[in-house]
Amino acid sequence: MKKVVTMNIPTVKDLKRVVIIGAGFAGLQVAKKLRRDKFQVVLIDKNNYHTFQPLLYQVATAGLEPDSIAHSIRNIIKDRKNFFFRLANVYYININQQKIYTNIGELNYDYLIIATGSVTNFFGKKNIEYFSLPMKSIPEALDLRSLILQDFESALLTNDIKEKKRLMTFVIVGGGPTGVELAGALAEMKRYVLPNDYPDLDIKYMNIHLLQASSRLLDGMSEQSAKEAYKNLEELGVIIWLNCLVQDYDGKIVFTENNKKIESANVIWAAGVKGAIIKGFANEDIKRQRILVDDYLKVIKYDNIFAIGDVAYNDQNKSYPNGYPMTAQPAIQQGNYLVKNFNYLLDKNVIKPFVYLNLGSMATIGRNKAVCDFPFFKLKGFLAWIIWMFVHLISLVGFRNRVIALTNWIIQYLQYNKSVRLIIRPFNRKKNHLKIN
Ligand SMILES: Cc1cc2nc3c(=O)[nH]c(=O)nc-3n(C[C@H](O)[C@H](O)[C@H](O)COP(=O)(O)OP(=O)(O)OC[C@H]3O[C@@H](n4cnc5c(N)ncnc54)[C@H](O)[C@@H]3O)c2cc1C
Repeated sequence: MKKVVTMNIPTVKDLKRVVIIGAGFAGLQVAKKLRRDKFQVVLIDKNNYHTFQPLLYQVATAGLEPDSIAHSIRNIIKDRKNFFFRLANVYYININQQKIYTNIGELNYDYLIIATGSVTNFFGKKNIEYFSLPMKSIPEALDLRSLILQDFESALLTNDIKEKKRLMTFVIVGGGPTGVELAGALAEMKRYVLPNDYPDLDIKYMNIHLLQASSRLLDGMSEQSAKEAYKNLEELGVIIWLNCLVQDYDGKIVFTENNKKIESANVIWAAGVKGAIIKGFANEDIKRQRILVDDYLKVIKYDNIFAIGDVAYNDQNKSYPNGYPMTAQPAIQQGNYLVKNFNYLLDKNVIKPFVYLNLGSMATIGRNKAVCDFPFFKLKGFLAWIIWMFVHLISLVGFRNRVIALTNWIIQYLQYNKSVRLIIRPFNRKKNHLKIN
């Protein structure tokens, strides 16, 4: 008979078990605040750390160490009363049996909260998935950091100008905040850092292309901020292509719908994400590649399953006909809302529907350059940049991470330098591609 592996979590009579999958922005709020005198809380994540994704691009461009944007989950939740964390990958949910299946065993739940975030969306383009680099996790950001530096080392070794250019050309696909921030950071590396590191390479061969499918950058932000970002990036030497939908990439040439061809060894895919949905749901539970939830963030049809953050889809709010933005604020607010609802339920109060409060959005383009859209006003330039830094610093999890990030930023600002230009884990293009395949 097949041995059933368990996760070694005791069943406590009179205590309902709440299983939270994902310790991102949304899941952590619930795990930290749920009343553990009333519930047994089990938090599961495939990593033993929380990732602060908005600063991944700084890891990729050698501005920050990876451990300053990651924080140990066990260190975040210190009071362990009725709390269990398990490092595991959940691969299936049996909704009828109220059970999840993971690589370390199975577990029953009374309530299930899905907070698995999102994964890179390649829109079914297999070649692009195979040859380009995404930037959704710390290992991927480290791959990118290694690749940038390795390509410069390789460019040194060739006298073939075409090949040199190919190695030193970076194509970023997607002109949202991630693409814009990455393009700005690469352009600053080109201006301030790489010429000093590689004096025997002609930096004019380095080109940064930013390709955006729509007619403007920063689609989710105001027209004013989009124009400012465009202007700032152009000043930094980024070549921007609007209305430019990428069709294919064969590892050497990027092909666009309007017949443009760009030779590049480095294509970074920042063009979209989709919900990280675990198998077990019916087709009608899923909409726009996210899990359909009602106004109470309950997965429609099931009374004890909730979805929050990037993975959850609700289009009932007229201001967000395509669902809430897949950004940190909705995730945090939904986590906080769900905790309150669980507690209301305990007190037999009437629960209220989720209301999203838009606190604004921002993007930085580089040194002294950022744009902020707040509900009642907009900012750009130095002040916006200071606010961007402040917001990101206070949002980082853990005092140590905040201090390290701030110290790094001050040193970089004063020295025009990026300190973490290390190839610690060389990126192996072939191995990586085999893995994906
Ligand atoms: C490069 C980048 C830049 C960004 N910049 C910004 C920004 O500037 N501002 C902003 O507001 N937002 C930004 N975002 C978006 C923001 O990070 C997300 O909206 C936010 O992280 C969503 O929170 P979440 O809790 O839903 O998911 P996440 O924070 O992604 O957390 C999901 C968690 O679930 C875990 N998980 C997933 N699947 C499984 C599984 N099967 N089993 C176990 N564990 C699992 C993951 O390991 C992860 O810890 C950015 C995202 C990226 C990738």
